Amino acid sequence: MDVLVIGAGAVGLSTAISLAEAGLSVTIRTAALPAQTTSVAAGAVWGAVKVGPPDRVLGWGRTGLEVLSKLAAEPGTGVRMAAGREVSRGPLEPYYWTRLLTDLRDCEESELPDGFTNGWHYTAPLATMPVYLDYLRTRFERAGGTLEVSPVASLASLAGQAPVVVNCSGAAARDLVPDPAVVPVRGQVVIAANPGIEEFLVNRDPEPPWIVYMFPHGDTILLGGTNDEGNSDTDPKPEIAMRIVASCAAIEPRLRGVEILGHRVGLRPWRPEVRLESEPLGDGVLWHNYGHGGAGISMAWGCAAEITRVVLG
Ligand SMILES: Cc1cc2nc3c(=O)[nH]c(=O)nc-3n(C[C@H](O)[C@H](O)[C@H](O)COP(=O)(O)OP(=O)(O)OC[C@H]3O[C@@H](n4cnc5c(N)ncnc54)[C@H](O)[C@@H]3O)c2cc1C
Repeated sequence: MDVLVIGAGAVGLSTAISLAEAGLSVTIRTAALPAQTTSVAAGAVWGAVKVGPPDRVLGWGRTGLEVLSKLAAEPGTGVRMAAGREVSRGPLEPYYWTRLLTDLRDCEESELPDGFTNGWHYTAPLATMPVYLDYLRTRFERAGGTLEVSPVASLASLAGQAPVVVNCSGAAARDLVPDPAVVPVRGQVVIAANPGIEEFLVNRDPEPPWIVYMFPHGDTILLGGTNDEGNSDTDPKPEIAMRIVASCAAIEPRLRGVEILGHRVGLRPWRPEVRLESEPLGDGVLWHNYGHGGAGISMAWGCAAEITRVVLG
């Protein structure tokens, strides 16, 4: 084995694929299968929300945008190019990273939901996470990789197991490293039958811990959500789900009385800055690749490429 990757969320799988497709022999060890990670709860649109530092995020985000846009053109990946709006009842400036988008524009007045005064409209890759994670796992195994469900008790215990170990443990890095700078940011979402909505919508009015958004995925639509800092309870709460559906239906009347199909909860691994750096581990090297906050699906390929470049020398 050349490389041992810890974690099978979007970050671990993308990193493992990048290394395996470069010709290295890669094993993933994970505490949970991809469908039970935080990654499966994501919306998931390309963007750089709640992630830093800005200079590196722009580079990782550019790579993520390129890779995900290409995947959107391939069948079976779970990724498509989607149009959507981010709207507000007050003044709204596009984020610095939206400069990477090619078709960002202000919303026409007719595109704003009732009561909203500002917004922008753009097209970006959107992943249906259960399908996308399945695609990533299959692609990893096709590149010769092996995935083992086997929790790691400590990073020190991995010394000597592979020349390169990559820690992609997400919010669990807080205890595993340990790294107190990692804060879980709980996100609960509702999966509902899609009443025919085609464009995604995010309400950018700050109202922590709430954030109202909807991401259509064909026959289903993902409704959100929460941004609850420091809360690591992964059980869905019925009262939160009810408020999510009501808040979305208040903006999009077609969601009134919508059929609920399921609930997901994820812990965004927030850190002021993504930790992407290496340190010695026995005679080998331990890479850290965690802390992608609200943007791990979007940053994963850029971070993976950076590690692969250095590992290949
Ligand atoms: C509601 C919600 C909406 C989001 N929307 C978006 C979005 O629109 N766009 C976007 O880019 N991002 C979005 N995100 C953020 C994104 O989901 C995360 O940044 C991303 O999933 C982090 O991926 P990860 O692989 O680092 O962590 P995880 O998906 O949590 O994976 C961590 C992996 O490490 C494993 N692990 C942990 N501890 C151990 C151990 N001791 N031993 C072995 N394995 C271990 C776990 O089992 C798991 O496999 C959203 C998140 C949430 C919750």
